[in-house]
Amino acid sequence: MKKNLVYPFLVVSLSFLLGACSEQTKETTTPKKEEVTNMKENEATELNNTPTASWSYEEETGPDHWGELDLSYSACIKGSEQSPVNIEFSQVKTSEKLESIEIKYQPTPFSIVNNGHTVQANAATPSNSIVVEGKEYQLVQFHFHTPSEHQFNGQHLDMELHLVHQDTNGELAVLGVLIQEGKENEKLASVWDVLPKDETEKDILINEPVDLQALLPSDQASFYYNGSLTTPPCTEKVKWIVFEKPIEMSKEQIQAFQQIFPDNHRPVQSLVEREIFKD
Ligand SMILES: [Zn+2]
Repeated sequence: MKKNLVYPFLVVSLSFLLGACSEQTKETTTPKKEEVTNMKENEATELNNTPTASWSYEEETGPDHWGELDLSYSACIKGSEQSPVNIEFSQVKTSEKLESIEIKYQPTPFSIVNNGHTVQANAATPSNSIVVEGKEYQLVQFHFHTPSEHQFNGQHLDMELHLVHQDTNGELAVLGVLIQEGKENEKLASVWDVLPKDETEKDILINEPVDLQALLPSDQASFYYNGSLTTPPCTEKVKWIVFEKPIEMSKEQIQAFQQIFPDNHRPVQSLVEREIFKD
């Protein structure tokens, strides 16, 4: 008897709470578990929508809780091809058939933002692209994490650069370049000169064009695997290409970023059934 009285009350309260948090005010019933699972089908369209729940890298809104914060973030806990991952060099499969990616970058104007999660540079022109398995993807933006999100043999490096590309169907390919402490990186100096310390409302135009081609390591041996966005909504079907050779940034450059974002990495996710290939 008691249970029957308590249950409707819970349903009403939960509906109200969910409505309030996620601004999905049209939702009148408590979503059932099956509905949460079904949301996966809609994930591909989520990327261009405004995220509904705020998230962070710590405590109640941190990576362990992303999947609970919003229905559209369900892949963060229910997905089976999540990123980042640990790349154990001895486990990587070499594939003769694998075509190396083709990188077509040229010095390009960018504008930068601090979006509260990272510093991101948005391409002002569609002049950079990569070709993966015969398909061309345009560079949309690049951004940074510290420490690195991918691990090499169980170890993080100091930072990681993500170059995010999209094809004409909206499919994503991300190039990951790990960063270790070393010499000052002059190719990123113009970006670092204007690193926005606080969340920005408007893009800041970088004075000089950024030469991404020159920024990449000359040895472009790469790891390939199928993964996801490393931030909510953790959308899958992302092609990942992670360079084996890291690039360098000075201690001062790394610290300048860490003063803004002391830790903006998602922990490594299980590979489940996946394999990582090397070209
Ligand atoms: Zn990233």
